[in-house]
Order: sequence, then structure tokens, then C-alpha cells
Amino acid sequence: MGDVPGIVVTGASGRMGQTLIRLAEGSDRLKLVACVERAGHAWIGRDVGEAMGGAPIGVTVTDDPLEAFAKAQAVVDFTSPAATVEFAALAAQARAVHVIGTTGLEAEHLARIEAASRHAVIVRAGNMSLGVNLLVRLTEKVAAALDADWDIEVVEAHHRMKVDAPSGTALMLGAAAAAGRGVALEDARVSGRDGITGARERGTIGFSAIRGGDIVGEHDVIFAGMGERVILRHVATDRGIFARGALRAAVWGQGQKPGQYDMMDVLGI
Ligand code: NAD
Repeated sequence: MGDVPGIVVTGASGRMGQTLIRLAEGSDRLKLVACVERAGHAWIGRDVGEAMGGAPIGVTVTDDPLEAFAKAQAVVDFTSPAATVEFAALAAQARAVHVIGTTGLEAEHLARIEAASRHAVIVRAGNMSLGVNLLVRLTEKVAAALDADWDIEVVEAHHRMKVDAPSGTALMLGAAAAAGRGVALEDARVSGRDGITGARERGTIGFSAIRGGDIVGEHDVIFAGMGERVILRHVATDRGIFARGALRAAVWGQGQKPGQYDMMDVLGI
């Protein structure tokens, strides 16, 4: 293998972490150089290949992120908001590209990520798949083409373990619909809690979430007018789509100027 970027996967034992490690192992565009898990996790000190139930791959899982980041050109991070803000500062210190897939980030987390991006390249997206990023663009275009009195509902479904709702992707889609209309999502969102508890104000944007089983991720954007509906849909059947996007972002980020980017930048759409 030639001169390809070295990457660290954080949250190595997680659903996304394991998917990333498998794909990185098969890639000739980058090299897995370290894996991070939280202190006290059973995988710390073990070879990650063995911990995943396969052959050893010569990469030991560590709970020392800075030591791991110092060896790498990119950090691919699908963990938790608290871990991600810590990693943003450490990745900037190590001058590594930080690819953030973690969702559920609040304003305080986003402010710390923004601060780190003054010194480093950060690629952050609530959804790293090609199809969803296309769906975001289409949602913006359809919202722009329709009159502002069409109601818009983003309906999402995910597995029972997911902690945040609406999903990061649903919020991206809602923001894109609002942008298409030339308004801010906060101003257009169904008032009160999401979901309908009574009559709905005309032309608002709402969110509905379904949780169950092992659903990887499904998103419908329903544009409901008088006498007709337009429905845009994306169905993810394999977590590999997010991991492939994240690894592509890790490679793309090399040589970019410090700042925050998203998957639209990476995919050029
Ligand atoms: P998961 O719970 O299976 O994995 C998270 C992992 O992070 C766990 O192994 C946990 O131990 C680890 N972790 C937590 N704190 C840590 C710390 N301080 N240091 C190191 N490791 C730590 O969750 P998942 O399904 O893999 O999802 C992870 C995140 O990615 C969630 O926020 C999810 O919504 C998001 N996600 C985003 C996309 C996308 O395309 N952007 C796609 C899928 C999932």
C-alpha cells in the first residue's frame, strides 16, 4: 500500500465502529492505524480483529484518544455527543481531519465543534450516505417548487436502540424543506411537541418517529397539499452506506483548509 491516510476509528465496538473497521480493512485508499473505545470497555488492550471475532489485524484498541490521533491523518467518529466534543479538540490538536457522524448534538456541542474547526478540517453530517444527501437536495427543490401552504411531514423509522428522535437525518430533511421555502426550520416547525395533537397550522413542517426492531433507517418526506401528495423516500438496508461515506470524507478532507464541511461538499452535489 502506498502513501494513503492513516485513520482512527472511535467507538470501535459500536454498530458503526465495527462496520467502519471491516470496510477500512478492505480499502486501499486508507489504512486503519488505531481504534479507540471508552475507558473500562472490555475491548481495551485487545487486537480489534480478534475482539470482533476474527483474525488479528495488528491494531490494538486503546482508551487514550490523543495517543491514537497523533498516529493518524483522520479520525472517524460515530460515538456520543460528549465523546465527540472531546475528540474534536484532540483531533484539532493532532491536526487530523475529524469526520463526525455522531448525532444528537446540541447547541453547546456544536459551539465546541465550531471552535475546533478554526484549526482543523471537520466533516460533519447527520447522514453520510449518497442517497440521503441526494434526498436532501431533492427535498429542498420540491419545497421551493410548491406553494407554501403545502404541509410537510418527515417520517422516520429506526431500530429500537436509537437514543435520539427525530433522527439527525430527519432534521436535515426538515431544514432542507425550510430552506427551499426560504424560512428557518424553527419558524416553520409544527408548534408544540412534534406529532399532531390537534388541528395543524397550514404549511408547517412536522416530524414523526417510529422505533422498532433492527430497522437501519427509513425516511419519507411527505408533501401534503389539497387533493394530492408528493412523497420522497430513502430506505437504508445496510450500515455500510454510512461507513463508506465517512471513509470517503476522511480521504477527501486531506489537504482541505480548516473549517466545517458536510457530505454535500464531499460528494460535490
Ligand atoms: P453504538 O452505541 O453501537 O456505538 C457507539 C460506540 O461509541 C459504543 O461502542 C461506545 O462504547 C462508544 N463510545 C461512547 N463514548 C466513548 C468515548 N468517550 N470514547 C470512545 N468510545 C466511546 O451506536 P451506533 O449505532 O454505532 O451510532 C453511533 C452514533 O452515530 C449515533 O449518534 C448515531 O445516531 C450515529 N449515526 C450516524 C450516521 C450518519 O450517517 N451520520 C449513521 C448511523 C449512526
